Amino acid sequence: MSVERTLAIIKPDAVAAGAAGKILTRVEQAGFKILALKMIRMSFDDAAGFYAVHSARPFFKSLCTFMTQGPCIPMVLEGGNAIARWRDLMGATDPAKAAAGTIRKDFAASIEANAVHGSDATTTAAFEIAYFFSARELQ
Ligand code: GDP
Repeated sequence: MSVERTLAIIKPDAVAAGAAGKILTRVEQAGFKILALKMIRMSFDDAAGFYAVHSARPFFKSLCTFMTQGPCIPMVLEGGNAIARWRDLMGATDPAKAAAGTIRKDFAASIEANAVHGSDATTTAAFEIAYFFSARELQ
């Protein structure tokens, strides 16, 4: 099992709902090491750059607007197979299809306002971690 880093975000809907603490508890209980964490409010351009891979999708503008509606909490998680393990813990993109016990099943309201983000591969994790954190913040 290789040790990986992944970029997780507690999205604005979950922060506004007061679910950040409960989600962080699940992160810790799952055994991830939280290497870095901050609370920020993204601008539209911040969100558009982060989700550039989705720029052609019909929901792109709505997604970027949603991500700017309030503060969010990006964090870097480290652990064995962290990328896949965090995505398993998040659950399916659409909470209606998410498995019982997943974060999205328990905290997400819709396919857009779905509580959390997680990188989907090592290359995207490297880009997404560097998008929010400097090397100095990852020690
Ligand atoms: P993820 O990897 O599970 O987060 O899913 P994607 O990478 O496919 O999509 C990125 C984000 O875009 C999702 O987490 C949702 O917030 C949003 N999203 C995905 N699909 C849809 C959709 O069909 N409609 C809307 N409005 N938002 C979506």
